[in-house]
Amino acid sequence: MGLLNLFKRKTFAHGVHPPEHKEETAHLPIRRMPFAPRMIIPLSQHFGAPAVPVVRVGQEVVRGEPIARADGFMSVPMHAPATGVVESIQLMPTARGPKTEAIVIRVYPAAEQRVLYGAPRDVENMTPDDIVQAVQDSGMVGLGGAAFPTHVKLKPPKDFPIDTLVVNGCECEPYLTTDHRVMLEHTDELLSGIRIAMRVSGASRAVIGVEDNKLDAVEAIKGKLPADGSITVQAVTTKYPQGSEKLLVKVLLDREVPSGGFPYQIGVVVNNVGTLAQLGMLLPQSQGLIERVVTLAGPGIKKPGNYMIPLGTPLRFALEYVGYEGDATHIILGGPMMGNTVASLDVPVTKGVTGIVVMPERERSPAAQTIYPCIRCGRCLDACPVKLNPSQMGRLAAKRLYTEMQQKYHLNDCFECGCCSYVCPSNIPLVQYFRIAKAINRERAA
Ligand code: SF4
Ligand code: SF4
Repeated sequence: MGLLNLFKRKTFAHGVHPPEHKEETAHLPIRRMPFAPRMIIPLSQHFGAPAVPVVRVGQEVVRGEPIARADGFMSVPMHAPATGVVESIQLMPTARGPKTEAIVIRVYPAAEQRVLYGAPRDVENMTPDDIVQAVQDSGMVGLGGAAFPTHVKLKPPKDFPIDTLVVNGCECEPYLTTDHRVMLEHTDELLSGIRIAMRVSGASRAVIGVEDNKLDAVEAIKGKLPADGSITVQAVTTKYPQGSEKLLVKVLLDREVPSGGFPYQIGVVVNNVGTLAQLGMLLPQSQGLIERVVTLAGPGIKKPGNYMIPLGTPLRFALEYVGYEGDATHIILGGPMMGNTVASLDVPVTKGVTGIVVMPERERSPAAQTIYPCIRCGRCLDACPVKLNPSQMGRLAAKRLYTEMQQKYHLNDCFECGCCSYVCPSNIPLVQYFRIAKAINRERAA
């Protein structure tokens, strides 16, 4: 046992301890996945306005070339993940079901992995505003799953000065180990991305938070920290959902993000380790985001691991490459706690996809599918990390009293972590109810 294990680490109140299932992939180095013959690049795979195509059907594109431009500040561009020809620009299905406009590229059979677009540049001598523009030009979004444009996060409103960058290396979802591998294999790029984010945001210090089931990553980072103490790393207790940015800020800095507010309101910017490592790789080369690390795991995957997958790769291709059993109903994009099942295997890997988890056994347990009445056991209240009343909100949701859920029970503070559903002995799909209620309230407000 190392010294780090002798101290009680910081954590937040409530939460749950689902089985981690990380051991099957955590030790495996990132492997590169080949190109699928056809790539599908949706123009909307981020929070904000969809990108606008700058290529036409029949045009040849090279790997890394911009193929769609950002539509305003709250938007990011798209880049060609492989060399080939634009086959079509058309509506294509997405993971959640509705179709969205996408650029389809037919990949040349001999297309090479080398990125053929971009040029070295001296980020050190760029102004913060130029770097914000460069981050937007790279198409970078939060790779932890949120897909929020990174340049927007790095440039909060002027009246909120930033003093601290919180770097999220918790990766608390079961099965997922992409951030773990990135911290081990791309430590230098991560620290380079952290320095860039500090310069742009104005933060004078950065604190990296890592769950204590990844102490090898803590050690790897510690060995490369600058001597001036401006960047530090802290191990925090392994508990779900430690990776929620508001909980992590509270644990690391003892500051509370206001209800319904953002970390910048208390002087903090939060970025995921995967996002910053990619920034550290792409910005000095003026390159765009064209691939990401994805964990393929779960009992239905034959060759589990972490794969560098070109964005736009259809799920079917990725799954056939590693071998799998099951169908779309067994596949979860993201982790099993917050991820979503997919509508079809013909949808592509996009910027926010952290993992593809295949769990065929889910369907085999009818008892786990049956929903029973609430027995008022209170377990959901004990699990909710933001101290809501999921039981009461669940009862209101069943009566479709969605407005009351918000007005009396602060529904919008629910960040859909799924702890309440996880502990409910009656199998009530509370988090699904809350997602629907929030969507309906948003529609009504619009
Ligand atoms: S899903 Fe929402 S209500 Fe349920 S535990 Fe998480 S934050 Fe609380
Ligand atoms: S955990 Fe389930 S059964 Fe228990 S109070 Fe909450 S909703 Fe009711």
